[in-house]
Amino acid sequence: MRAAIGLGSNQGDSLKILSGALHRLNPVARSDLYQSTAWGPPQPDYYNLVAIIETPLAPELLLDELLTIERQWGRVRRQRWGPRTLDLDILLYEEIILTTPRLMVPHPHLLERNFALLPLAKLAPHWLHPVAQQSLAVLAARLNREGLVCLGPQW
Ligand code: AMP
Repeated sequence: MRAAIGLGSNQGDSLKILSGALHRLNPVARSDLYQSTAWGPPQPDYYNLVAIIETPLAPELLLDELLTIERQWGRVRRQRWGPRTLDLDILLYEEIILTTPRLMVPHPHLLERNFALLPLAKLAPHWLHPVAQQSLAVLAARLNREGLVCLGPQW
């Protein structure tokens, strides 16, 4: 099954952490690296990227796997929307719609977060957002790039 994962970090050695998490995810495609202004309380900029993976895991089990990887990198949940060493989100999973007490797919904020939607739309412009019923390319064209800097493919 194809899934899109959003990766973010704004605490610790972010580039090393993202690189380690990417290695674990073993993606079939990955976006450029981006730097984005943080939402929420004042905190350092985030480093973000998006990966597309092929996984045999059902969404709930994939979430468990992501939470394990997050814990491995020492994420401590101190404050809602506060700084974090590693944040992993399921952005899309095939074209399914799923709402359970611990998981919403598509990710509920995908369409408003330029650091998630713009890199993903570049990787997979024809992927249909199953709630909006439009392609990622069409949805991304509506977003501005405010607060977002592309750092390119290497780091
Ligand atoms: P946060 O710390 O704000 O990133 O929230 C993480 C929690 O959000 C996880 O433990 C999940 O239970 C929940 N969650 C709901 N939908 C998703 C999703 N699509 N991807 C990742 N986590 C999700």
